[in-house]
Amino acid sequence: MEFEASFSMTIGGRAVTGKHGFDVVNPATEAAIARAPDASRDELDAAVAAARSAFPGWAATAIDTRGALLVQLADALVAEIDGFARLLTAEQGKPHADARTEILASAYWLKGAASLALPATVNEDSPERHSETRHVPIGVVGAIAPWNYPMVLAMFKVGPALRAGNTVVLKPSPFTPLTTLKFGELAARILPAGVLNTISGGDQLGPWLTEHPGIDKVSFTGSTATGRRVMQSASATLKRVTLELGGNDPAIVLPDADVEALAEPLFWAAFANNGQVCIATKRMYVHERVYDRLKQALVAYARTVKVGNGAEQGTQLGPVNNAVQFRRVRDLIADARTQGYQFLTGGEPHAGPGYFVPVTILDNPPEASRIVQEEQFGPILPLLKFSDVDEVIARANASEYGLGASVWGTDEDAALAVAQRIASGTVWINETQHLSPLAAFGGMKQSGLGVEGGTEGLLEYTNAQTLVRRRKASDC
Ligand code: NAD
Repeated sequence: MEFEASFSMTIGGRAVTGKHGFDVVNPATEAAIARAPDASRDELDAAVAAARSAFPGWAATAIDTRGALLVQLADALVAEIDGFARLLTAEQGKPHADARTEILASAYWLKGAASLALPATVNEDSPERHSETRHVPIGVVGAIAPWNYPMVLAMFKVGPALRAGNTVVLKPSPFTPLTTLKFGELAARILPAGVLNTISGGDQLGPWLTEHPGIDKVSFTGSTATGRRVMQSASATLKRVTLELGGNDPAIVLPDADVEALAEPLFWAAFANNGQVCIATKRMYVHERVYDRLKQALVAYARTVKVGNGAEQGTQLGPVNNAVQFRRVRDLIADARTQGYQFLTGGEPHAGPGYFVPVTILDNPPEASRIVQEEQFGPILPLLKFSDVDEVIARANASEYGLGASVWGTDEDAALAVAQRIASGTVWINETQHLSPLAAFGGMKQSGLGVEGGTEGLLEYTNAQTLVRRRKASDC
């Protein structure tokens, strides 16, 4: 195997290999590259118990000390970027340069969380009483991450959860457990034992975690279908939940957009990370006045993009991450072909090995088509024509999702007026996918519940507690 070193879970500061394991596959070759531990229920119990016993000490640690340790952890991660990036490309498929960017972003998110403060509100300060609301940590957080950005999306949770004084049991996707397990080993050198536990396993592990009575909050990133199950399971013990779920983001290109200049950013809005981005543009609505010009510019740009093994120099798009997603994307392509939609590029999935799908752009398929209505999460994009702004806003909003959206045009005020009418957690104007650890990010409708990032995101890892002090008569 490419990575002969053993990968361990981190439970209570100790490396635990576990009795059973499963193969992790490189999506560019379909070869097994390493074995990851397949946690038993007992091992999950041990991770939760370790997090519970570490909680009082960590919660009592000064917030500045917690922040300093997060900064130290971020620096340690960057110091080992070469190994982490190589591992991330091998298990996720993304090109090496993108893997490095993800590791740097992970460190940036940890540092961002370390800079956030917990606000306190004085409700009353009168001769009779002092009333103040503060924010206290919840307890043990079960953090569940997906496979598209396994490291940085885990850090979206780890940073604020630890900053606020919680302890964490972190579970990566079974498709991408390796970088997270290595991160757990790194963190064990810096954080007190039990503060951050990592645990890997198969399909049974997520439900065990969300139903576990020793977990107080679940922070989940993944699909909307799984998010519903997580919420249901968490309800048994009224766990707090933050759900970051799927999206079907529209981009709206207005008639005054400089489409030749925008072809490149619009291409990457849809195809970065092979479209496997929750906030990828998944439907591109283009005004009829500029539709043909943008179509030509996008197709010309797509022809310059190199698809291949992410470990090879110059690769811009790697394979789709896993066999399940590969089948799903192929199925959407087959559906488009059966329905007779026009392909501008792509459409012929690679025979293998490797889960490669060529960049596929469809020319104005019907609004009711599967590729427009469903989240594709792969390198296939419908280009859609519109003639009227009110009509396109209605089409953009006619979705159960409401994660992100973008509006593109030269007149910023006109673009802003459109953006304000879109029902999604974030709307970008003349850019997309810009996120910050200092800004709230979350979904409307069935794209999620709660937010990550910013003070609002930090507060999701706390309970509000109001302390009311009656003043002594002598104080009045
Ligand atoms: P997924 O829902 O299949 O899995 C996500 C995680 O949940 C994995 O770790 C998985 O092992 C675990 N899991 C699976 N079933 C579970 C259950 N019943 N209970 C608890 N945990 C369970 O999602 P995925 O395929 O890994 O990721 C792709 C999806 O994630 C897309 O829909 C994408 O839009 C979404 N996503 C959302 C965001 C966001 O911030 N909103 C970010 C990235 C990805």
